[in-house]
Order: sequence, then C-alpha cells, then structure tokens
Amino acid sequence: MSEHHSVIIVGAGLSGLYCAWQLQQQLQDVILLEARDRTGGRILSADYKNSHYDMGPAWVWPQLQPRLSRLTSQLDLQIFKQYSSGTMLYEKSPDEIERYDGQSSHSQSYRVKGGSYQLIKALLTKVSQSRIHLNTQVKEIHKDNLEIHAIRDGKAVHYTADKIILALPPRLILENIIFNPTMPEDITNAWKNIPTWMSGHCKIVFIYDKPFWRDNNLSGEVFSHYGPLSEIYDASPESEEYYALTSFVGLNSHQRKQIDEKNLIDLSLAQLQRLFGDESKNVSDIQIKDWSLDEYTTTELDLTSPMQHPDYPEDIPKHFWDKKLILAGTEVAREHGGYLEGAIESADEAITVYE
Ligand SMILES: Cc1cc2nc3c(=O)[nH]c(=O)nc-3n(C[C@H](O)[C@H](O)[C@H](O)COP(=O)(O)OP(=O)(O)OC[C@H]3O[C@@H](n4cnc5c(N)ncnc54)[C@H](O)[C@@H]3O)c2cc1C
Repeated sequence: MSEHHSVIIVGAGLSGLYCAWQLQQQLQDVILLEARDRTGGRILSADYKNSHYDMGPAWVWPQLQPRLSRLTSQLDLQIFKQYSSGTMLYEKSPDEIERYDGQSSHSQSYRVKGGSYQLIKALLTKVSQSRIHLNTQVKEIHKDNLEIHAIRDGKAVHYTADKIILALPPRLILENIIFNPTMPEDITNAWKNIPTWMSGHCKIVFIYDKPFWRDNNLSGEVFSHYGPLSEIYDASPESEEYYALTSFVGLNSHQRKQIDEKNLIDLSLAQLQRLFGDESKNVSDIQIKDWSLDEYTTTELDLTSPMQHPDYPEDIPKHFWDKKLILAGTEVAREHGGYLEGAIESADEAITVYE
C-alpha cells in the first residue's frame, strides 16, 4: 500500500519547510519526508537554560538578503546586530597576538533574536505537524507513478506523488537516493561538484555568566593561525541572560579524527586563556557540533570541501521527468547558493517550476 499526495517534499530544512508553507497556502496536498527525528536540517540550536545558541547558521545580512528579510518580518521575528564593538585579535602564534582596534569582519552581520532556529519554530506554526513525516529516509525514486521508497522508523514505506521536490544538498541526493531510470551521467557529475556549504566544519560554543572580553574592550572576534580555533566571535543572546563565544575549529575533519573531543576542548580552552585571560576558564557550558560526522548533511566528498565560500553553478538543470521531479535546497540557488537566503531562493524557484 502506498500513500498518495500531490506534492512530496524531501527534506525539512529551511528550504523544504518554506516550500511546504508556500504550497500549503495554494491549498496543495503537500507532505514533507525528513530523515532526521527533527526539522531544521543545518539550522540547529543548543539550549542553555533560557537561551539558544546556533550550532549551524547564525548570521543574516538583511541589506543583501531580500527574501530572508521578508520572511523574518512575515514570521514576526526580530534581528539584532552582531556584537563587534572593541578590539579584534589576530593570533599569529601563542607569543604574537596583534590587536586591531575598532575593526570587525562582521560589522554588517545580524543575528535572529532567539537564534536561527526561531525561523524553523515559526514555520512549524504554519505547516501542520501531520504533514511532516520524521524519521523517514528516502532511498529510491521511480519515474513510474512517481513512486518513493523510504524507510520510516525502520520500516519500508511507499509513497506516490504528482510532483516531488528534493530540498536537500545534491551530494546527499547522489550518495543516498537511487533513481529509476538512473540520472544521466552529466547530471550526476554536476551534483558531485556542488559542495554542501559548511558541511565539513566543526563549531564549539563556550557559555559564560559574564562577558569578560567586552569588559576588557575586546569584541570577542579573533582570527588565529595557530588554533585549534581559527575564528572566534561573540555569540551572546540579545537578552544577555548569558554570554557566549562561538568558534570554528581550524583543523579539518581528517585532522579532527586524530584528536579526541576532550583533548580538542582542552586545547581550545588553553587558546581562550591565551587570548582573553584567566576568566575564560570560568565556563558554564560547552557545546560542540562536528558537522562532518552528520550523515544527513555531509558526504565523504565534503570532508575535503573548500573552506571559502564556493561559486555555485548558475546553470544546472533543476527539473527532470517532465517537470515532475524538481530540485530545491540552498546549493542549487542561482544567486545566494550556500546561504539561508539561497534556501528560500531555491524554494521560490521550485514553486515557479511547479506552477
Ligand atoms: C556550521 C554552519 C554554519 C553556517 N553559517 C551560516 C550563516 O551564518 N549564514 C547563512 O546564511 N548560512 C549559513 N550556513 C548554511 C545554512 O545552514 C544553509 O544554507 C541552510 O540551512 C540550508 O537549508 P536547506 O534546507 O537548503 O538544507 P538542509 O538544512 O541541509 O536541509 C536538508 C534536509 O534534508 C534532510 N535529508 C537528507 N537526506 C534525506 C533523505 N534521504 N530523506 C529525507 N530527508 C533527507 C536532512 O536531514 C535535512 O533536514 C551554515 C551552515 C553550517 C553547517
């Protein structure tokens, strides 16, 4: 027995959820199939008491991101400026720390009040829960009857649809979904060459009761050549109930595998002490998320992904099988590939194909 729906969206990250909301407003019979036991995909927050810390995306740039700005106001969400007052540090080596007064690479960056997960939380008030099938990993898609084979809660399930929207990174599609008939080689090669943005990174957030760096006129922003943390920023919530420093680990995923988590944290705390002094030892909580270990974001190919934002191709085909199989997800966005804005851009485009 298979369940039939007019539109089936694979992936309940920002792109899939936003797409579902738009189609639901057009009174489409739409469902979302999501492999994880949660929605949001790369948008993930860690909670500490009443505050939420972004373990995935944190920054938005309203002056460059019209769709995201529209969405935040539609969803009644507020944004606030990334804290960047004071001095930025550059650690050349443990003995050579340069100071840059009043400089910041994030003077134009904003964050969503309450963390990026507020976007997902707000979308979940628009898309009815019964339309989201969690723990449902799509394994195969057949052109005949547009049939989907998935594993839901460990059991084989089947769906059929009039249209399917794949709202997930192309490399995950390539690695985990079998198509019948198979996709042409030029398409699979194109998918292979589209890196999943930030998938190889590891983020560590350090939570404090006091903003000792601010008190010492430091912005919290650091670039380091020595590491293990290569970039550090102030990640305190706007409410200032607690304070936080967030960081990206400079070691790549292969190097991280050679060092256990406790060792990585100890080395990171030693670095914070070098940069910010002894008060950094009074940490209330530490949250770590290594995205390279996340099977629903990262593939083997992404372990050697570029550290800099790549140029996403403008011309990859985004619909197949007489426009019945359509791609969305930030990695296929023409203009804003990789970013939250791209997740919405690609969903808007998928809906246009659909119409
Ligand atoms: C550490 C980090 C920092 C970032 N920082 C920023 C930032 O500051 N600003 C910014 O704009 N962007 C940032 N990004 C990128 C941003 O997170 C993405 O652009 C955005 O979240 C992508 O949304 P999406 O819906 O396209 O994809 P995803 O969020 O990846 O959603 C895809 C969904 O598909 C699901 N899925 C996968 N395989 C299957 C399957 N077989 N069957 C069913 N479901 C499946 C996944 O579980 C997931 O929920 C960052 C990302 C990371 C990891």
